Amino acid sequence: MNLKLFAGLLVVFTGLCAGQSIVAPDLNAGPTAEPKKPVIFDLSAIDTTADPCTDFYQYACGNWKKNNPIPADQVRWGRFNEVAERNNYLLYSELKSAADAPATPLQKKYGNYFAACMNVAQADKLGAKPIEPELAAIAAWSDKKQLAALDVERWKRFSSAGLFDIGVEQDQKDSTQQILETHQGGLTLPDRDYYLTDDDRSRTIREQYVAHVKAMFVLLGDSPERAATEAADVMRIETALAKGSMSRVERRDPAKRYHIMTVAQLQALSPDFSWKQYLDGINLGGVTTLNVSSPGYVEAANRVLETESLPAIKSYLRWHTVHSAAPLLSQPFVDENFNFFLATLQGQKQQTPRWKRCTNMTDGALGEAVGQDWVRQNFSPDAKENMQKLVAALERSLGEDIKNLPWMSDATKVEAEKKLDAIRQKIGYPEKWRDYSTLAVERNDLLGNVERARKFEDLHELSKLGKPVDETEWGMTPPTVNAYYNPALNDINFPAGILQPPFYDKNIDPAVNLGGIGVVIGHEMTHGFDDQGSKYDLNGNVRVWWTPEDLSKFNERTECEAKEYDGFEVAPGQNLNGHLTLGENTADNGGIRIAFQALEETLATQGAAAESGYVDGKRDGYTPQQRFFISFGQVWCENRTEQVARVRAKTDPHSSGEWRIKGTVQNFDEFGKAFGCKVGQPMMPANSCRVW
Ligand SMILES: [Zn+2]
Repeated sequence: MNLKLFAGLLVVFTGLCAGQSIVAPDLNAGPTAEPKKPVIFDLSAIDTTADPCTDFYQYACGNWKKNNPIPADQVRWGRFNEVAERNNYLLYSELKSAADAPATPLQKKYGNYFAACMNVAQADKLGAKPIEPELAAIAAWSDKKQLAALDVERWKRFSSAGLFDIGVEQDQKDSTQQILETHQGGLTLPDRDYYLTDDDRSRTIREQYVAHVKAMFVLLGDSPERAATEAADVMRIETALAKGSMSRVERRDPAKRYHIMTVAQLQALSPDFSWKQYLDGINLGGVTTLNVSSPGYVEAANRVLETESLPAIKSYLRWHTVHSAAPLLSQPFVDENFNFFLATLQGQKQQTPRWKRCTNMTDGALGEAVGQDWVRQNFSPDAKENMQKLVAALERSLGEDIKNLPWMSDATKVEAEKKLDAIRQKIGYPEKWRDYSTLAVERNDLLGNVERARKFEDLHELSKLGKPVDETEWGMTPPTVNAYYNPALNDINFPAGILQPPFYDKNIDPAVNLGGIGVVIGHEMTHGFDDQGSKYDLNGNVRVWWTPEDLSKFNERTECEAKEYDGFEVAPGQNLNGHLTLGENTADNGGIRIAFQALEETLATQGAAAESGYVDGKRDGYTPQQRFFISFGQVWCENRTEQVARVRAKTDPHSSGEWRIKGTVQNFDEFGKAFGCKVGQPMMPANSCRVW
């Protein structure tokens, strides 16, 4: 899986990452009813018995939380999920009709992809057969020195990472160039800390994981004794790789991921793997230098190759083969995979219905084919136009904010404003769609389709080497309910999927839209200036554009936020990691300020027009400022399992919904003023943190 570095609004797990499962009790059943359209500014969600100055999360979301328990097939349920479920349903309807009666060649392609995925009977009949060629290749491998040859062979059939993995990225020092990179990977549990942390909870998860790996080997037909040895091999090798891996916090620093080497230097770092043979084999023999993003990982992988036995490394490769294919195989594999990765690790009660999995998978593989029809049916041109206006308003606000920052010198302000002016915006969907004509899809070959789609993506990535950067390319598909900032392109991206309630409604007052999509836009813009984005200049190059004094003031301020969020608890004994979530928290805190400023400006310039529906300065009993904050809060109403709260605290750069709301409003005086809070109340502390 290609690791993108851009900052999304939230993490959504779709496609075929670890822990996906695609079978429901009634295997072929489609959705039973069309999910309701989410409500924007939902009065019935508010817990009026709570004091907004004490706990604004409870106030804005209390009744929503009570009335929206986590569905059995989810691990987390929030407003984002409401929209995503509805988008999924609409996509499903499109895919189903394309599968039954395609009207165009493109519909035939994604219809077949979807139909192959929905064919449970065939998956059950085949068992582990689809991965047999792969397992046979691993079995036939007889010389540790020839791992590169095996990797080339596997790459030719479909793209599969072994111990080492490569990709293409923009050069940090010259963003117009695209270079080859090796990155860390090779683990199965959600983070390297799961292998390294020595506490009871982590030890238990490791034991459950080893039992799961063993059970999968038994499903492949191995004896329990052999499976136990193989599972121990996997655990030992992954632990060794974890020890050589950088932490998520370290990886947030672009300098720590940048180590340009010649192929000869990389070879010296990993003498037991023939890079020349590998690069020649995958048609990249001409590459002379590359970025070794995690040298410690490369050394650890080489040590594995050097010290582990051939059979042990085979166990590791077999495991990754069966694990990545498990959701696509027969029921026992699907169930075993679900039991560990979703039920045990994340607290999901029931398998996700197959139609949802297959819809996500098809969107993941052919997103810009499926998205063309989806956009035509579900995205109005005026939504795009209104978004452009909102983005322009938010840009003006951020410009004002920068101008008025009390702690920044004029010299740095000039640079910050230049960067802001250079931010490009992409709204709705790509200007030009991907061409899928070279991707072969068969109606009866689920795993083959997935592998070919993966290979198609991989070749697309590798084909970028040495070519100009395509600035129009998107990192998310049109129906996605999310948004992102990409520091290397200095652009903000808002897929069509998010431009609807509870974020946006063209018929509602500006206060509500600015509290919803306005804060989202402000959030993405602020990413250009968070602890990570601020290291990139207006052209997407890593370069210090700050005066040393301003940089040290900036770091003091971000440290204040990191410490603050370190103190927020998400499950008993489990706090957020303030440095892991620093960029997202900075974006939340900056985003709300500039969206609020845009509201004040709108009220000042548009007066009565902006306040239509208001009586005596209030609507539904709330002032525009209060409606802004409630709208913001209600975007983040959610319930999540305790297990998922713990997993996300270690892996998700975003804070939980509760702290995205409370952390943000308690750092912003205007909130306390809007609700008449007194200094010293929880949502209006005497000392708070501010970066932007
Ligand atoms: Zn973000």
